[in-house]
This record gives sequence, structure tokens and C-alpha cells, in this order.
Amino acid sequence: MKARTLIKIFFGIDTADGDGVKLTRIIGSPQLNMLDPFLLLDCFASDQAQDYIGGFPEHPHRGIETVTYLLNGKMRHKDNAGNEGIIEPGGVQWMTAGRGILHSEMPEQEDGLLQGFQLWVNLPRSAKMTAPRYQEYAPDTIAVEHLAGGGSIKVIAGKTDLGTIGPVINDYVFPTYMDISLPAGSSFSQAITQGHNAFIYLLEGEVIIEGDNESQDIITSNDPQTLLAKTLGILSDGEQVKVTATKQGSRFLLIAGKPLNEPVARGGPFVMNTEAEIQQAFVDYQRGLF
Ligand code: FE
Repeated sequence: MKARTLIKIFFGIDTADGDGVKLTRIIGSPQLNMLDPFLLLDCFASDQAQDYIGGFPEHPHRGIETVTYLLNGKMRHKDNAGNEGIIEPGGVQWMTAGRGILHSEMPEQEDGLLQGFQLWVNLPRSAKMTAPRYQEYAPDTIAVEHLAGGGSIKVIAGKTDLGTIGPVINDYVFPTYMDISLPAGSSFSQAITQGHNAFIYLLEGEVIIEGDNESQDIITSNDPQTLLAKTLGILSDGEQVKVTATKQGSRFLLIAGKPLNEPVARGGPFVMNTEAEIQQAFVDYQRGLF
């Protein structure tokens, strides 16, 4: 099995979105516009209320799925179809916006740490106007596999090599979304479907990606296969990934999905295939059709 190598590293940019929520945008930034099918990855982490208290007041989406994974703190979501709920620490909301949803995402706390991720996954042309749908999973409903070396894999989407299956169902891009913890010196390997785009976002520690080094597109820094905390590493194509934590214990997200290979037209919270469809989304939104 050919092991994927690390081909590019991104730090993201510090910015704000919603009503002044401070975040680091890693995908959807000038440096990394997208990694098909992933359109955006925001990381937020602050224990200062002013960095998050404004939240994300009511706003629309069309043509995409938004995936919220909270590590610390709570968020309340509410939409115009009457759906409402709280995402708890360790919980996941996989929202298929489809033809349109109008929702708010607000912190359910006035102090303390709020930390998590929002990932945007593109929908194929055939599903951009599908009916909106939620997949919501409380922390205790998400499978965790314990590794022989002391680490663990929390499986939000996809299937581990030992057969642990994540709860998210998605036949558009067949995603992998795993939250992996490794003690210092321990290793982990995971099959990833060849042809799927894949990346690792390192939350803590330092890891080495042990790729089969035949790839031409390997990055050319001094220490090309080491990934540091708070960085995103894009993996080359291949059949699996092998990761070793160095001196420190490490925690990282492993995310992969099937590229759609379709034209992408962006208009803020709307992502369609053509400019005309983006214009239509704005018209439909203004007419109150969401
Ligand atoms: Fe949203």
C-alpha cells in the first residue's frame, strides 16, 4: 500500500467572521482557496468572551454542507424551519444546506473556552438543490477506537482499518473525519481511498508523516515530513497514511473526501457551479424563498 507523503503545509490567516468571532481560516484563504471537495476550514479557540460572544447571527447557506465539531464550549443553532439544538463539547453537526437554510450559530456561554472547527464540504451539482437535512451526533454517540499503543481514534465519518465506523452518512464525497490522539513515540496508519483528497490538521504536538517517498511533488524544505501544531498538511495521493508522534503526544484531525471535479462559483455563504446560480441564490434569499 502506497503511503501518502506530506506535500504542502498551511498556517491559515487570522480573521473574523459572523459578528466578530475571531478565527483562523485555513481552507478558503488566499493561500489555500479550496481542497476539493473542501471549501473552507475555520478553527476557533479562545477563552476570551469578546472573541466569540457575537456568534454567527442569522445567515443563509446554499449548495454546501457545513460541519461543526466542537471540542470545548457549547453552541446553539436555530433555523428558519424550526430546528434548534445545542452542540455539546465533542459533538458534531453535519448540516446539508442544500437548496437553502437560514440559521444562526451562537455561543451558549458567556465565558470560558470555546474551541472547535467548521468545515464546508461542497455538494455535487446533482445535490445542490436537495432538501436541507441535519445529522447531529452527541459526543457519546460517536465511536472511539483505542489503539494498542495508547492512542485513540474518534471516528466522525469513515471507517478505521480495524472496522470502527463513524456515524455520518454521506454518499456525495464519502468523507473521512477522524480525531486522533497519539502518545509520544506511537504510530498510527489508516487506509484512505486512492484519489480522495486528504489533509491533517495538527492540534497539538508534532508528527512525522511516513510517506513512500517516490512522489515528485514532495515539498522541499529541510524537514519535509514533519508537521507542527496549528498547521494543516496536505497529503499526496496514495492508499494510506502513516503518522508517528514525536517526543510529544499529538492530536490531529484526519479529513479526506472524494473530489467533485466540478466548476465552483462562490458567493459568500452560497457555493454553486455557475455565477448565474449564485445570482439566483441572492434573488431567492431576498425574496424570502429560503
Ligand atoms: Fe452557518
